[in-house]
Amino acid sequence: MANSKYEYVKSFEVEDEIFSPNLLVVRIHGRDFQRFSHDHGFEKPNDERALNLMNTCAVAVLEEYPDIVFSYGYSDEYSFVFKNTSKFYQRRASKILSLIVSFFTSVYVTKWKEFFPLKEFRYPPSFHSRVISCASIEVLQQYLAWRQNDCHVNNQYETCLWMLIKHGKSENEAQEILKGTQKQEKNELLFQQFGVNYKKLPEMFRQGSCVFKTEMEDIVKYNENGAPVKRLRRKARIVHSENIAGKSFWNAHSCLLK
Ligand code: ATP
Ligand code: ATP
Ligand code: MG
Ligand code: MG
Ligand code: MG
Repeated sequence: MANSKYEYVKSFEVEDEIFSPNLLVVRIHGRDFQRFSHDHGFEKPNDERALNLMNTCAVAVLEEYPDIVFSYGYSDEYSFVFKNTSKFYQRRASKILSLIVSFFTSVYVTKWKEFFPLKEFRYPPSFHSRVISCASIEVLQQYLAWRQNDCHVNNQYETCLWMLIKHGKSENEAQEILKGTQKQEKNELLFQQFGVNYKKLPEMFRQGSCVFKTEMEDIVKYNENGAPVKRLRRKARIVHSENIAGKSFWNAHSCLLK
């Protein structure tokens, strides 16, 4: 259509560049996963297979799009952080978020069988996405703190809820018991009624998962005298960490945003 009489229509496209030096973040999020997880028999409150599938999709995204330096996710969501010098698709929000969310969804569907070999899709899942423009590293840290706090609050609530349901309460009764309870009260409920120490539950459930690339030595071949020939390769790694917004985390991973 180049140089045709219709070309002027291109000027109707919405301009949505995220200007430098703002940090660009894309968050994808499962749509109606309460129903999807129910209809596909996820274990409650945390189906490890489903979380590992989400993590695998995030690793695939980082490997496909080198400008993404860090990601964080839990439950049915993942946030992807771009390096601040990124020029990916001229930093156009709709281009970038549509690529990430469609790629993530395709990988989710393709890899489903690896994690749920005996479960067919009853219907295809969908994810929505948005772009967050963080004006500084401090804002990014606040954003990550918000998502990780959400992970904590939701996980603690769902752990209590499902413990009560598994011990005979109806969903309504369990919700009623938990209404207005604070963090400490929930921990006590778990410990006193069910002997569960919340802090001992798996880190992936409590803290969510981070994915970022680190340099690792790979053996590429062995030479004639049997000695390994190694090469440094950047590989995506999944990590669970307590405070991903904290100074110590970003000091330890300061190279991420360069
Ligand atoms: P929305 O479309 O507004 O996002 P939603 O139904 O996806 O609605 P969320 O608040 O995103 O609601 O909650 C996600 C739901 O999916 C929760 O009910 C959660 O228990 C379930 N879920 C997601 N991942 C898992 C998992 N790994 N194991 C068990 N349940 C999960
Ligand atoms: P971009 O990422 O910029 O869109 P692209 O490689 O997708 O790059 P397009 O200009 O969108 O480039 O062209 C689509 C390409 O896919 C063409 O080369 C076209 O021949 C090929 N293609 C798409 N659909 C079909 C089809 N049904 N049969 C054969 N080839 C197809
Ligand atoms: Mg959701
Ligand atoms: Mg959610
Ligand atoms: Mg194309």
